[in-house]
Amino acid sequence: MGGSSDGHSLPRYVRVNTLKTSMDDVITYFKRQGYTYLGKARSIKELVDFAQKSGKLFLQDLHIPNLLVFPPSTDFHKDSLYTAGHLILQDKASCLPALLLDPPVGACVIDACAAPGNKTSQLAAVVQNKGKVFAFDLDTKRLATMSTLLLRAGVTCQELANQDFLTVNPCEPKYQKVSHILVDPSCSGSGMPDRMRVLTDEAGCDQKERLQALSAFQKRAVSHALKFPAVEYVVYSTCSIHQQENEDVVKDILEQHPDFRLVNVLPSWPVRGLNTFPVQSVVFGPLCQKR
Ligand code: SAM
Repeated sequence: MGGSSDGHSLPRYVRVNTLKTSMDDVITYFKRQGYTYLGKARSIKELVDFAQKSGKLFLQDLHIPNLLVFPPSTDFHKDSLYTAGHLILQDKASCLPALLLDPPVGACVIDACAAPGNKTSQLAAVVQNKGKVFAFDLDTKRLATMSTLLLRAGVTCQELANQDFLTVNPCEPKYQKVSHILVDPSCSGSGMPDRMRVLTDEAGCDQKERLQALSAFQKRAVSHALKFPAVEYVVYSTCSIHQQENEDVVKDILEQHPDFRLVNVLPSWPVRGLNTFPVQSVVFGPLCQKR
């Protein structure tokens, strides 16, 4: 919960599940529990400073509309709003892909590598449980966890499949209206605070092979997503800090699929990863749009 390799703490982020409640109701609830509400954060510096705080305080995130921020030591696992599915314990970075994909209400969406399903439940909230969210995962256990999570979160528009996304046939009639796809595939996890040190300690050779295999899979997964006949937008996201899993994947995809281009999402976001693409394009959380 909130620890990081450089000794700094990350805040406790809580996404308000709009399928079950509203931001106003949750803020009122926490105020009644004795928390002080500091309003919406005005700058990234305010958020960074807040991560050093403790006690019963909270604020609203600067970038993600339904995200509340609490001091790192806050634990909501036993909170009645959490157990009732009104709150989802989801980090800020994990909220960005579905927010940026932004399918309209009633859209047909695919979550290609979905378990344990936090982003699937967020996508269902964005489409307001209308339309369809097709969610795939290879891992049976993770998919079972996901089923429980989605039930608790009040998601009803999902169709789950224990299936390799690469074997999903884009020509099947039920996928003909899929317009938005999220590809959040297996990755090295090197960008997760608790993993950063582990990876640097790994033997170089093993890591190189592992990254090559991951990167090859990631390219295949995004490439497959672009084959769906009605697809307009695809978001590709990882928890990795390796160029091989991020910029290199996107570069390769753009070369293979000239009918797609990058979109400049979240223009106010100050950091854009490595300087691999033209200024107007997106490196962090890239979103491909059909030309
Ligand atoms: N999007 C998820 C979330 O926000 O909760 C996290 C996804 S995790 C980074 C990657 C997932 O991809 C794992 O659950 C893994 O089992 C799944 N996966 C790996 N290869 C796959 C494949 N070929 N088809 C479908 N899922 C796959």
